[in-house]
Amino acid sequence: MGNTKIVIAGPRGRMGSEAVKLVERTENFELAAVIDHKHNGKLLSELGVSTLAVPVYSDIIECLNVVKPDVLIDLTTPEVGMYHTKTALSLGVRPVVGTTGFTKENLAELETLCRERELGCVIAPNFALGAVLMMKFAQVAGKYFPDVEIIELHHDKKLDAPSGTSLKTAEMIAEVREEKKQGHPNEKETLPGARGADFAGMHIHSVRLPGLIAHEQVMFGAEGQSLSIRHDSYDRVSFMSGVKLAVDTVMKLNTFVYGLENIID
Ligand code: NAP
Repeated sequence: MGNTKIVIAGPRGRMGSEAVKLVERTENFELAAVIDHKHNGKLLSELGVSTLAVPVYSDIIECLNVVKPDVLIDLTTPEVGMYHTKTALSLGVRPVVGTTGFTKENLAELETLCRERELGCVIAPNFALGAVLMMKFAQVAGKYFPDVEIIELHHDKKLDAPSGTSLKTAEMIAEVREEKKQGHPNEKETLPGARGADFAGMHIHSVRLPGLIAHEQVMFGAEGQSLSIRHDSYDRVSFMSGVKLAVDTVMKLNTFVYGLENIID
């Protein structure tokens, strides 16, 4: 099998620069170009991210038409990520998307595009395999413990709240949990937001602090007991084995996959 030709969008970012290193060190992966809105026409080696002299494009359409990659890895911002993913699919390139903040409508639109184009696409709000296992374990627990509070903690540069992982966790728990509004029926917030965001009666709390990377605790409570399931990413390298798995998998797919849990056994 030949090399998988990859384009990375967002190569100067915290995740994108880690993805550049992943592609550089992975046999059979080839970094063909990067997409960066501020450095059109330069080489990646001029951006201080890598010594690779691959071209930098600002215009995704030009990039994908010229380079003709197999896969686009997007690690940018929600609006840009959505535009990049749609454009990649329309040009026959398989997207692997780590960018978070996509709405339900965005996901539905991308799923339709994949079906029409018969192309694989992997969107993973969390590439850390430990976080994926946390979600799976939380789903098992949610069947027996309907009272749950999700606390997600991230660095203070994160744009979207709640995190994609906490939403995905809540969605997975909601599939098995009897719907229930938690807390006292007459509870009242004296400060708006004190009880966090409401997802099918579950509460999601978002903490933003410098020094953190990505962390989540799913707390279940019942009479006389509690159960906490927690995952911590201490370094962005924790996401890279999932990125590699997603790239390898998307090459064999012609469907839309949302969440890494759907591609691990
Ligand atoms: P970041 O450090 O802010 O990186 C985002 C990068 O995207 C920046 O370098 C930014 O450049 C660039 N960018 C913005 N608009 C662009 C455009 N039009 N074309 C190309 N590049 C563009 O953020 P991060 O921490 O790496 O996170 C990136 C995304 O991944 C976020 O959505 C985050 O929530 C998500 N994330 C996902 C996972 C996962 O496991 N799936 C884990 C961590 C983070 P400028 O700064 O110059 O604008």
